[in-house]
Amino acid sequence: MSCKVKALIQREMAKMNNETFDTVKFSDLIDANSEYVQTFKYSELTGSAARGLAIVTCMDSRINPLSVVGMRSGDAKILRNAGARVTEDVLRTLVLATYLLNVDRILVMPHTDCRMAQSEESNIHELIESKFGVDTRSLEFRVTKDQEAALKTDITRIRTYPLIREGVSVAGAIYDVKTGKIDFKSF
Ligand SMILES: [Zn+2]
Repeated sequence: MSCKVKALIQREMAKMNNETFDTVKFSDLIDANSEYVQTFKYSELTGSAARGLAIVTCMDSRINPLSVVGMRSGDAKILRNAGARVTEDVLRTLVLATYLLNVDRILVMPHTDCRMAQSEESNIHELIESKFGVDTRSLEFRVTKDQEAALKTDITRIRTYPLIREGVSVAGAIYDVKTGKIDFKSF
């Protein structure tokens, strides 16, 4: 077999691997879920937020948004992204949640030691470019150096958004990843 054909086959195989479900990589999830369903106890829940809350927080894996505020499955809607920023998609989801899913209070909760609040937008693009050779500047990551100012802006964005249901309360707080405490802001 020629080198060219070999390379072609290898490339095709790599492509196939990428396009099919990798059961090895996900095996721990598959196993865990088999156990989970044995003791599943949430079949009575509906899709409405039982305690009327939506939390907008960061994707940071140190945050367990429900536990932080004493909620359980079924109680609250959770929206997550890098930096807990209020994007168009967050607004779109909040509009639906406030009209259709019983949400009448919204907590925007970024956290301490957040990668999205330690540098400038350009630094993150440069970091990815230098490590992986990929130019990500067509994306806006919404990085900020002033986390509190960004939080204030994001809260204002929700409060003044004309399509959010009337009477919805919006609060902001910063979650401390070292202590678990949330610091509610007065704005
Ligand atoms: Zn974060």
